[in-house]
Amino acid sequence: MPFYITTAISYVNGVPHLGHAYEAIATDVIARHMRQRDGDVFFLTGTDEHGEPVADAAQAEGIDPQELADRNAERFKALMPLLGVSNDFFIRTTDPEHERRVQEVLQRVHDNGYTYKGVYEGWYCARCADFKVENEILEGNLCPIHEIALELKQEENWFFKLSAFQERLEQVYAEHPAFVMPLVRFNEARSFITSGLQDISLSRKHLKWGVTVPWDHEHVFYVWFDALLNYYTALGYARPGEDLTDHFWPANFHIIGKDILKFHTVFWPAILMAADLPLPEHVFVHGFLLGADGRKMSKSLGNVLDPFEVLEEFGTDALRFYLMRDVSFGSDGTVGMDAVTARYESELANDYGNLASRTIAMIHRYRDGVVPDVPTDSELAREFEDLLPELRELMDAAEVSTALELIWRRVRRCNRYVEERAPWRLAKDPDAAGELDRTLASLAEAVRVISVLVSPYVPTSAQKLLDVLGAPELSLGGAEFAPTGGGRRVAVLEPLFPKRA
Ligand SMILES: [Zn+2]
Repeated sequence: MPFYITTAISYVNGVPHLGHAYEAIATDVIARHMRQRDGDVFFLTGTDEHGEPVADAAQAEGIDPQELADRNAERFKALMPLLGVSNDFFIRTTDPEHERRVQEVLQRVHDNGYTYKGVYEGWYCARCADFKVENEILEGNLCPIHEIALELKQEENWFFKLSAFQERLEQVYAEHPAFVMPLVRFNEARSFITSGLQDISLSRKHLKWGVTVPWDHEHVFYVWFDALLNYYTALGYARPGEDLTDHFWPANFHIIGKDILKFHTVFWPAILMAADLPLPEHVFVHGFLLGADGRKMSKSLGNVLDPFEVLEEFGTDALRFYLMRDVSFGSDGTVGMDAVTARYESELANDYGNLASRTIAMIHRYRDGVVPDVPTDSELAREFEDLLPELRELMDAAEVSTALELIWRRVRRCNRYVEERAPWRLAKDPDAAGELDRTLASLAEAVRVISVLVSPYVPTSAQKLLDVLGAPELSLGGAEFAPTGGGRRVAVLEPLFPKRA
């Protein structure tokens, strides 16, 4: 089964921060897990490059908007390998192929009769590049997201007949309770719809920095429609000489933050319906990362967790693990350097790293580096019995932090197993040789299974360990707890998560 997953695209008018890293990593964990199932996965990320804020910033610097977009897009693109993110393509909304397909799709929306010309007057946030409706505006006419003053704006626009989709959207929500996840976000989106939909602007007249409206060249498309369509357009040209659209569309998952819920759960499905295109299966909405003090991160409060600092000090796998482990995916959560250190030391180094190094070291010390080819402990095997189907089910619902918790329970169980079996005592008793064989074979197998399952979270460390075990295969088909140790030769393991100076 083809599986298509996307992050939101990052607005180029900023610099990469922890929020971007968080979303890209979570999406990557799901993509890597799905590749372990059977490999037919497409994972898209990219940058959103049009709109007034980019044009304004470029003007302030005295440069062309394209120049600004080129420079900033590069920073986001360069972030992905640093995070170990395995996206299949990086879309830029200034790609000519994207622009051409945006025009095609929205021309169809126009031809289908879902547009009209009118005058829009409303409260506009320049940072969101969005008009706000009455019930979202904060006291004092402030943007609910940026808490900056909104301006009253009037202009000639092409409108999209969102109101025409009131009933069909209500029906989508009635029939697909997993269209938006988690449930609290589903309810939020649905109540936005049932409170009554108003038509929305589809174009801007005086802005040049955007995709030209093909039936009215004085207008460019409102940046949000151009941006949303990236999920669809990318499939047309991501792989040179191939059109992947029929194979991968509709998307299985859009992973987004809660600040852009309305666009993805109301406007986006309506535009797709207006263009006669099938809807994505799920929109998963994650929460915000807050400073350790529980407040929004800001330089002035000194509570910013800098992803580059974590990468520098602890490495890619540690950042990935920390973010997936410390914040429940779908909820807001606090993050900070102390918590990174604590998770690194107690869980990566002590729980997993130590289990791995003890196991490998004992196989060298007691069995000359060969995993005994004897039956494994059926009692330990039983602890792993339900794990794989449970993980599949959780990953199908993008429950990445719950899935990690289930894996971690097994890591801890194995550490207790080492203490219970005390191989160092068995090694002193010649009559216990068989028991020692079984213990070592079971531990090697448990470490192997855990590493296959945890590899989407900590890909480099897990792969290193699997290579040392002589079992590099990542497929979930091979993640069942094997009945025998297998007789493989193990290599020497350097510490996976070294003690820090
Ligand atoms: Zn705003």
